[in-house]
Amino acid sequence: MLEQGTISIHTENIFPIIKKSLYSDHQIFLRELVSNAVDAIQKLKMVSRAGDYAGDIGEPEIEIAIDKDKKTLSISDNGIGMTADEVKKYINQVAFSSAEEFIHKYEGKSDQPIIGHFGLGFYSSFMVAQKVEIDTLSYQEGAQAVHWTCDGSPAFTLEESPRTTRGTTITLSLQGEEEEFLESARIKNLVKTYCDFLPVPIKLEGEVLNKQKAPWRESPSNLSQEDYLEFYRYLYPFQEEPLLWVHLNTDYPFIINGILYFPKMRPDVDVTKGQIKLFCNQVFVSDNCEEIIPQFLTPMRGVLDSTDIPLNVSRSALQGDRTVRRIGDYIAKKVGDRLKELFRDNREQYISAWKDLGTFVKFGVLNDEKFKKQIEDIIVFRTTAKLTEKVAAETPVVEVQSSDGDAWQDVTPSPSSENSAPSAPYTTLKEYLERNKERNENRVFYSTDEATQATYIELHKNQGLEVLFMDSFIDTHFINFLEREYQDIKFTRVDSDLDNTLLEQDKATEIVDPKTNKTRSESIKELFEKSLNKPKLNIRTEALKSDDPHGTPPAIVLLPEILRRMR
Ligand code: ADP
Ligand code: MG
Repeated sequence: MLEQGTISIHTENIFPIIKKSLYSDHQIFLRELVSNAVDAIQKLKMVSRAGDYAGDIGEPEIEIAIDKDKKTLSISDNGIGMTADEVKKYINQVAFSSAEEFIHKYEGKSDQPIIGHFGLGFYSSFMVAQKVEIDTLSYQEGAQAVHWTCDGSPAFTLEESPRTTRGTTITLSLQGEEEEFLESARIKNLVKTYCDFLPVPIKLEGEVLNKQKAPWRESPSNLSQEDYLEFYRYLYPFQEEPLLWVHLNTDYPFIINGILYFPKMRPDVDVTKGQIKLFCNQVFVSDNCEEIIPQFLTPMRGVLDSTDIPLNVSRSALQGDRTVRRIGDYIAKKVGDRLKELFRDNREQYISAWKDLGTFVKFGVLNDEKFKKQIEDIIVFRTTAKLTEKVAAETPVVEVQSSDGDAWQDVTPSPSSENSAPSAPYTTLKEYLERNKERNENRVFYSTDEATQATYIELHKNQGLEVLFMDSFIDTHFINFLEREYQDIKFTRVDSDLDNTLLEQDKATEIVDPKTNKTRSESIKELFEKSLNKPKLNIRTEALKSDDPHGTPPAIVLLPEILRRMR
């Protein structure tokens, strides 16, 4: 026998589940009630813009009040309010939201998204309250104010209210174990965390608690360099200025807004922990959602706001989500665009940023084909060529880590070091080949270790051959990649057998300094070793080499290592 029908829900049984298990976190009730209040105000604006409300909408405002004696917490707004029918429709029916109907009716009248959607948020108030009351007056002409009460059982009362001001007050009589929400410090903190960027002033004891402005929702053309820096300082106070940032804003094929910054790598910047704040319609949802951005951009921090990121799924499910992967690709592309722009417009700034983020870019190139295509022409290497006036003549510039391991510094192993140390020249592979096309015949000479290969580097320089430094630990893998990618180029390590002929030649002509009884190469080598008391360049890379000489090592191995070394 075939039978069809509708599943029914037994309210007495399901209600406790909604109250207890809908959200894992009790404190989010405040976020839900405040976002309803913001929606109510936004809706009133939309109605007014559409010409359906002739009254004065006044100054939008949300007021939170604590009554310690009565043990109540109330949230009031001067928004749209509700009629008795609307209370019956949208409050008494669980999981029924007015949002869709409303947006449909007032399409195009909004500059601000409606936050609500599922029709469940209101009931989160029962996680902390034993009794919830609604006192509300609709904007509609001739509306009668109503008072709704519910003690957490499926029974409610609805009666007339003497209220005369438009808007809604939700009053929670807190459960005994939830009295922490009567502390104003606790409430302030919650508003700061969840509601800081909501576009309506939220007051407690006469004080406005929230910042209100969400810069990521502005058009990038409205924001100055200083605006972006100011926002960074607001999010991450007392930290050095970021190296660069990207402003994301797209509506298609997914909705995402946000500003992501690449921080300066410093020991106090913990890049191993994701620091991205995830928002949904300006309401804070969670921290540490590093799964959303591509792995090679792990150090990036800032704000992402999207209604297209699934919120209540596990981290692994998030990584597997198709939209999330596409958002990740979009972010990578934006970062690539930004790097190219910087490379084109401000080479000096690009190089200085490269010192911090070059490793991540190379990692991205090894792991992401699209990103590789996008930026392969702007990968730069430090070189022995004298490319800028800024580099002090004849003075090798070495980047070393200071002995306390605290900061990266440019150190010149000579007394000519001035206040601001000159930056070492960097070059792209293309520029290198172009510069050396006559001598090198498509050969690239590189050094993997400036200290131990100093003699060889010097020999090459003496012969007028330019040497590139591929001496960070990721370069071991990167050289494999380059060899595979540019098969017509011959990559030759300065100390490889092939070029020992150079050494022989040079030895014959080298002059020994009678004072030290050392050759020029030997002296240079010594000088380097002295200056490199804790060399960044001397990292042993062999251990990380993969078995397959042409294989790219798995990201799992590389990324933690990169992050560890960046600290
Ligand atoms: P959602 O916000 O997802 O729609 P809620 O359970 O939070 O779901 O709220 C249900 C409905 O109750 C809302 O859609 C709205 O119609 C109404 N409502 C809730 N709070 C208010 C308020 N402060 N002012 C006016 N209407 C409200
Ligand atoms: Mg809601």
